Amino acid sequence: MKYEFSITKNPNPKKKPDPDTLRFGTEFTDHMFIMDYQEGEGWHDGRIVPYGPLSLDPAAVVFHYAQEMFEGLKAYKSEDGRVLLFRPYMNAQRTNRTNDRLCIPQIDEDLFVEAIKALVKIDADWIPQKEGTALYIRPFIIADEAFLGVRRSNHYKFIIILSPVGPYYVGGLTPTKLYVEDKYVRATDGGTGEAKCGGNYAASLKAQEEAHAKGYEQILWLDGVHRKYVEEVGTSNAFFVIGDEVVTAPLDGTILPGITRNSVIAILKKKGIKVAERKTTIDEIVQAYKDGKFKEMFASGTAAVISPVGELRYKDEDMIINNGEIGPIAQELYDTIYGIQTGKLPDDMGWTVEVK
Ligand SMILES: *Cc1c(COP(=O)(O)O)cnc(C)c1O
Repeated sequence: MKYEFSITKNPNPKKKPDPDTLRFGTEFTDHMFIMDYQEGEGWHDGRIVPYGPLSLDPAAVVFHYAQEMFEGLKAYKSEDGRVLLFRPYMNAQRTNRTNDRLCIPQIDEDLFVEAIKALVKIDADWIPQKEGTALYIRPFIIADEAFLGVRRSNHYKFIIILSPVGPYYVGGLTPTKLYVEDKYVRATDGGTGEAKCGGNYAASLKAQEEAHAKGYEQILWLDGVHRKYVEEVGTSNAFFVIGDEVVTAPLDGTILPGITRNSVIAILKKKGIKVAERKTTIDEIVQAYKDGKFKEMFASGTAAVISPVGELRYKDEDMIINNGEIGPIAQELYDTIYGIQTGKLPDDMGWTVEVK
């Protein structure tokens, strides 16, 4: 191995959670990875240590100006006991694009993936195997120089934590109800919409709470300028089946370039299903609904993989999609992607990376 990390074993390992009652992101494993960055020295001192609280200076830049980024991917254990990561190099590449936007130093892609592998290997017993469960991997970087002026930090921490998770939505593959947000916006051209950073989420909480209060699980965001083009769903990318074509928003700066989104497009192309990355207005979707051409909608993201949408609310228009049931394209995509991720299907795309 090119990289060596020191390992301090946790002297007090925790009891593993019951796989039947796992929720999303509430339990954490026995270890975490930490590595420091110092201007002039670069990334150094990568180490695996017992999971636990951090000690940070209250003046750390992250607390005041949100210089922070995060990633998300999953590890699965196959029936024959192999530990599989799904396309981790794409997370490494996206990390560097996010870092560039937020003036966080670049990180070597191999270092990023090797750190994940080393940590997952130590806590491999935490990977749950029940259908719909996985070990969620959360790499993130925080600016921790103690300094209150506004400029890029000279010191950072790259941290990875692991969380055994159940389905992202309590109902699993049960279709969700979405509210089309026409007041708040998530991203604008030239902003940070395509960067995976906490700031985007802090700004989205209010819209999500208001949608929850109205009885909707998530938001479908419209573009920040015209509030006209459909963009994304909360923590995932949005797909619409209109007639015989699957459409999703293009990656033009305001959309998070999802790895699941990229995988969905590749699989659809391989299966010969028409797919287009193009700007689509909410009015086009409402019209397609009225014409009986709005066949399916689903969201794609690491947490839920594929999440079917059963109801879409835009102003006074309440669209019930595919009788509120999961559609055939969403089901096939879920089966294919989840099958590859868990090693049940042959990985003919070369997407999985084994942790040995
Ligand atoms: C992470 C994320 C996604 C999904 O990306 P995946 O790589 O598929 O998990 C979509 N939208 C937003 C806003 C995200 O943060």
